[in-house]
Amino acid sequence: MHEIRVHDKTFIPYLSQPEIEESIKNLAQKINQDYADKCPLFIAILNGAFMFAAELFKSISIASEISFIKLASYKGTTSSGHVITSIGLDADVKNKHIIILEDIIDTGKTMSRFLPQLYNQQPASLKIAALLHKPEATTHEVPLDYNCFKIPNKFVVGFGLDYNGMGRNIPAVYKLKE
Ligand code: 5GP
Ligand code: MG
Repeated sequence: MHEIRVHDKTFIPYLSQPEIEESIKNLAQKINQDYADKCPLFIAILNGAFMFAAELFKSISIASEISFIKLASYKGTTSSGHVITSIGLDADVKNKHIIILEDIIDTGKTMSRFLPQLYNQQPASLKIAALLHKPEATTHEVPLDYNCFKIPNKFVVGFGLDYNGMGRNIPAVYKLKE
């Protein structure tokens, strides 16, 4: 793996495709056990979580559903702090066991604003799964039930995550070169 350029910035390899896929498989197995008789509804947060959701869902072997919602709080490489819901949830959440799928928990702002909306719809239970977590960036505590990687407070791209719209197709995770 080499350095890559996205727009005006250089990124260096951080998590390889095999280690990401392995970690997601392990997570899927945990969920298969924890939710064996619960028929969970996965809710993936677009855009960033689409690749994590697809990779995870391939290894989910229990009865389950998946739906998608679009939230956004990022412009450039720092969080704007505004949470915008632009595509509503089409699935019925009431009495369902919900697992939210996020690409990354950074400040936690996005999740902390979205969770009350979901709780209002009275799910049977609600858990959060995130591919990446930046513990040092947390300003809003979020109950993170499942997580593949804890990472330092550095901007990353790839595996669904973008830098100003680009880089989502990179099949591994790269971090900003300083
Ligand atoms: P939070 O609300 O937790 O601060 O930010 C959550 C959202 O910001 C994530 O879903 C993701 O879209 C975006 N984000 C946070 N950190 C990064 C990062 O390092 N790289 C990229 N590409 N997006 C990030
Ligand atoms: Mg996101």
